[in-house]
Amino acid sequence: MTLAATHAAPFAFDNSYARLPDRFFARLPPTPVATPRLVKLNERLARDLGLDPARLASPEGIEVLAGNRIAHGSEPIAQAYAGHQFGGFVPQLGDGRAVLLGEIIDRAGVRRDIQLKGSGPTPFSRRGDGRAALGPVLREYIVAEAMHALGVPTTRSLAAVLSGEHVFREEALPGAVLTRVAASHIRVGTFQYFAVRRDTDGIRQLADHVIARHYPEAAGAPNPYLALLDAVIARQAALIARWLAIGFIHGVMNTDNMSIAGETIDYGPCAFMDTYHPGTVFSSIDAQGRYAYANQPQIAQWNLARLTETLLPLLAETEAAQLEAGQASLMGFGGLFEAAYTRELRAKLGLMEARDGDLDLAHDLLDRMTKGEADFTLTFRDLADAAAAPSADAKVAGRFKDPAVFTEWASRWRARLELESGTPSVRREAMRQANPAFIPRNHLVEEAIAAAVRREDFQPFEDLVAVLARPFDDQPGRERYTLPPKPEEVVKQTFCGT
Ligand code: AMP
Ligand code: MG
Repeated sequence: MTLAATHAAPFAFDNSYARLPDRFFARLPPTPVATPRLVKLNERLARDLGLDPARLASPEGIEVLAGNRIAHGSEPIAQAYAGHQFGGFVPQLGDGRAVLLGEIIDRAGVRRDIQLKGSGPTPFSRRGDGRAALGPVLREYIVAEAMHALGVPTTRSLAAVLSGEHVFREEALPGAVLTRVAASHIRVGTFQYFAVRRDTDGIRQLADHVIARHYPEAAGAPNPYLALLDAVIARQAALIARWLAIGFIHGVMNTDNMSIAGETIDYGPCAFMDTYHPGTVFSSIDAQGRYAYANQPQIAQWNLARLTETLLPLLAETEAAQLEAGQASLMGFGGLFEAAYTRELRAKLGLMEARDGDLDLAHDLLDRMTKGEADFTLTFRDLADAAAAPSADAKVAGRFKDPAVFTEWASRWRARLELESGTPSVRREAMRQANPAFIPRNHLVEEAIAAAVRREDFQPFEDLVAVLARPFDDQPGRERYTLPPKPEEVVKQTFCGT
């Protein structure tokens, strides 16, 4: 290593959010922790970001990742935002336990936020301690990286550091800090923060920032703000379709947990479905099932309606024209979602061409999976084999309580496949790329967390992260990770862990 490299800052920060007006955030450093210890560094991501993994893993790098040292060029801030939580509006939330260290430009030229989560109290902490427990930090690490490997837009996990301190929830737990990477941490709730204060200037400045950063093509539209709204709606429609395609349930789709850039953000009580059922809910705080699996498209649209309200003053001159424009954009969500979802389902069924009735065919299978209590992931994964050889039908049918429920559908599916020209082996391969073998099943995530928290054994976590990095490959010897939970392993509830 050259002398220059030794003294170079670990991050080449180039901050833009910190240039926005003071009322957008609070400036403060992270609160140092007792004895930082690196648990995990995402070396591959570090390199993609143009960072040197060895430097990040050095004692000095770990101090930065723990919040004990301010890296050169860092301008730490806690961002202000508001949000609807379970339908109720809270005018001020903000980063209560996170600090944005700054922004860097990654190797693909994309601006990315580097944020510490669990980095101590801020002016937005309300009654919270500003800290995070190791369990939820590992959970977010695992699930975010799995989502990325599954091809879902998401925030990323760069590092997890033990703080050497306890956090007190129902019990004393090891504390940790997550380094999160995002296209940005601007949320629907960030717009709401200014809207509830009737700060139209703030909304305009935020919108201009978002256009420049995430939606530059909107800048050239006749009304850039309307184009911005349409673009956000389109990205959310595609994102939710992708969630449904892999059986993901976010669990807390509050407006403060919906990213303007269209990434999945804030992994709290999120979970993947094992047995297919559209009403599946895991979150312990979602007794009403507001954020159930199949409700997610409607909730996304509800959240986007809240975003639309904040942008109204920018959409047109008169109130009537504003409402008309906003309504029209919002109504676009249904069609965009349905088109994206249909594309996802077609890929899952191995349909290379679009025909009327495809959505109905897919829904028929899903209904049968509900009745048959079939495992969502494995049913589709095995279906790829059935596409190549009907002899594999028995394997798929075996996923259903009553195999006949599947075989009836299979003949309908085969009749549909007959209409296409693709060869069975090409179809099978395409289906395997649409239907993962490995998802972060809750019982596996819990098992990895338990080993880390109870025994400081991080091997199960390491193994799980490695398996989930290649979700579409068969991984001989790793079959255990494809399996649904045994009855005694079923995880019924997940917790925010805040
Ligand atoms: P979440 O439910 O994680 O999306 O968080 C909702 C709000 O509560 C955000 O403003 C968080 O910053 C804040 N929050 C969550 N946990 C804590 C904590 N331990 N200390 C301070 N603020 C927190
Ligand atoms: Mg949140």
